[in-house]
Amino acid sequence: RIMIALDNVSKIYGSGQHAITALKDVNLHVPQGDIHGVIGLSGAGKSTLIRCVNLLERPTTGHVSVDDQELTALDRATLNRARHGIGMIFQHFNLLTSRTVFDNVALPLELMRMDKNTIRERVQPLLDLTGLADKADSYPAELSGGQKQRVAIARALASRPKVLLCDEATSALDPQTTSSILGLLEDINRRLGLTILLITHEMEVVKSICHRVSLISDGELVEEAEVGDFFTSP
Ligand code: ADP
Ligand code: ADP
Repeated sequence: RIMIALDNVSKIYGSGQHAITALKDVNLHVPQGDIHGVIGLSGAGKSTLIRCVNLLERPTTGHVSVDDQELTALDRATLNRARHGIGMIFQHFNLLTSRTVFDNVALPLELMRMDKNTIRERVQPLLDLTGLADKADSYPAELSGGQKQRVAIARALASRPKVLLCDEATSALDPQTTSSILGLLEDINRRLGLTILLITHEMEVVKSICHRVSLISDGELVEEAEVGDFFTSP
């Protein structure tokens, strides 16, 4: 079963002589439960591609489906509901500095108008899962980079998504912290059956947790393979 489908997706920024083609006719199908990596140089189109999956960027042409729902065909209200099924984490964590760890993780649930007790029942297990149980009342400024990314992961999981998008999630972290965050992502993939799509410019990230990998170059997916085959091919 395919969880993420990009069909003939192109993205052009701007128009006329300033137009920049960031994605050219991209086709990508990620089966449920896979960890799929997209690797490429800076400017290749990785950010644009991953932001097209939840329509943070709207493709200029083409179709995007997640969990068999075609997002590119939805009105705004339905799209907002569909986005609860798609979590996302970022290179710079994007936490709210004025909120505690608990309140950062609770935020998406508050926006869904969930009541306080249900929120508490949901947030506590996520803090346990991400190893933050003793940090619930801390503020982001009091945390290390790895801990901040754990908060962002817990927040991304709060709405119980089936898909997690990771936008250079370990690029701001040192190697040791990187492996612990990758370990957590692998754990989440195994225990929750979450489908993960990640973009990175680092081979090591792909080697360590991805099942399949696509190579993007100048906005085009130029190769797709099992990770083992990708790295042994001549
Ligand atoms: P990557 O994530 O691989 O570094 P991006 O998707 O950020 O690649 O960028 C792909 C191309 O699209 C680059 O040429 C970049 O300058 C351009 N681009 C990205 N975002 C925008 C934007 N909002 N407006 C105009 N051009 C953009
Ligand atoms: P990253 O690759 O880490 O996402 P970028 O520097 O490529 O960082 O992009 C940061 C932000 O700036 C993104 O929101 C992207 O869409 C936007 N951006 C990137 N390139 C351009 C550009 N040439 N013109 C306008 N916005 C851009």
